[in-house]
Amino acid sequence: MNTSVDEQAFENVRKLINDICQRMSISETCRLRLTGCERELTVRFPVKMDDGHVRVFSGFRVVHNDTRGPAKGGIRYHPDVSLDEVRALAALMTLKTAVVNVPYGGAKGAVVCNPKDLSLTELERLTRRYAAEIAVLIGPNLDIPAPDVGTNPQVMAWIMDTYSQMRGYSPGVITGKPLEIGGSKGRFEATGRGCMITALLAAKHVRVDAEEATVAVQGFGNVGAAVAKLLAREGCLITAVSDSRGGVYNPKGLDLEGLLAHKTETGSVVGFKNTEPITNAELLELPCDILIPAALEHQIVEANAASVKAKIVAEGANGPTTPEADRILYANGVFVVPDVLANAGGVIVSYLEWVQNLQVFCWEEAHVNGYLHSMMTNAFAEVLEISAREKVDMRTAAYMTALRRLAAAMTARGIFP
Ligand code: NAD
Repeated sequence: MNTSVDEQAFENVRKLINDICQRMSISETCRLRLTGCERELTVRFPVKMDDGHVRVFSGFRVVHNDTRGPAKGGIRYHPDVSLDEVRALAALMTLKTAVVNVPYGGAKGAVVCNPKDLSLTELERLTRRYAAEIAVLIGPNLDIPAPDVGTNPQVMAWIMDTYSQMRGYSPGVITGKPLEIGGSKGRFEATGRGCMITALLAAKHVRVDAEEATVAVQGFGNVGAAVAKLLAREGCLITAVSDSRGGVYNPKGLDLEGLLAHKTETGSVVGFKNTEPITNAELLELPCDILIPAALEHQIVEANAASVKAKIVAEGANGPTTPEADRILYANGVFVVPDVLANAGGVIVSYLEWVQNLQVFCWEEAHVNGYLHSMMTNAFAEVLEISAREKVDMRTAAYMTALRRLAAAMTARGIFP
């Protein structure tokens, strides 16, 4: 069968969960529950555009598993997003929350749209209607969305407000909100900060000196721009970054402040002064110590994995490496920090935001960053220890950590009724 990339996304995660459950002798009931999604909602809804005509959009919200706590996962606005991709991302969230041991399950949502083609008022109407459509599933104790590709704190604010109009004031229904309405200090950079922490721990492990490390970052959005900035602050040399329109390269290092200003002004990193243009494909194959894919899925594949020259790949994005590519990277001695660990900083600080909302309290940024640092460091150490003990790659070790916790929780809770 000719399976599309999107259909392959969920199949890849499912297969890995299935194989590792069998390897760990996890019960068949747990395995069957974890290789499918618990709840899937598809919505189709009309939105009035600024010129008066009406467009009908499709959206999804998928809960993969909520055994360990309310489901948790971002909302993606992208023209190519599909239900199958959302299922894969929801399953990754279940694994991620279990790897870093926050009391959540996993979910994901999406609307098929290009937010760049919508005006602010159209984006608000689309968001509010989508929020109303998925209100049957979400809630502070049920399923708590957050930002993902194409969404931001403003979109979260509209969802919080729409839900609160329907059910009463509920800041805990969503995380990644603006500070003024219960967002957490440190949340905006949290995914990039967590990725930076794991990249530096990996560098220490493979004996790369951070002060001399060269770094290439694919994707210059929420995750990519933050991780580039934070790694530069630690002394790393950021030699290349890219976005959907292309990339820029300077082996002597990029001026990140100037680059951010250029991106704000022009909408892209492309054309920044004192740089050579490169394609996204070329960026992945650059000579560097640390490669950070922080854009979309399926970037490192069978065809280009052998050309990756980085010593460390820290997956800021979800699902950037296919299973075939994973095997090639492992055989070539590339140290991969898998997505469920490398980009878990976002969900950790989302958890801290939700805790603050439930307590009606606000913490200082240093307090939030301190928790983030210790939770990321503990999770990295635990996964590394399993990887060494079981002689498996870091992704398998991370899945083993997560699946052991999930199976224990499922067994303890039993089956209703
Ligand atoms: P974003 O929309 O802020 O940024 C995405 C970046 O990728 C942009 O610079 C965009 O131009 C670029 N991009 C898009 N298509 C590309 C392509 N084909 N080639 C190269 N670059 C491309 O999104 P984000 O929130 O930074 O998310 C990036 C990745 O990180 C996604 O995989 C997301 O699921 C994952 N992630 C995000 C968070 C979070 O807190 N935002 C948390 C965990 C994981």
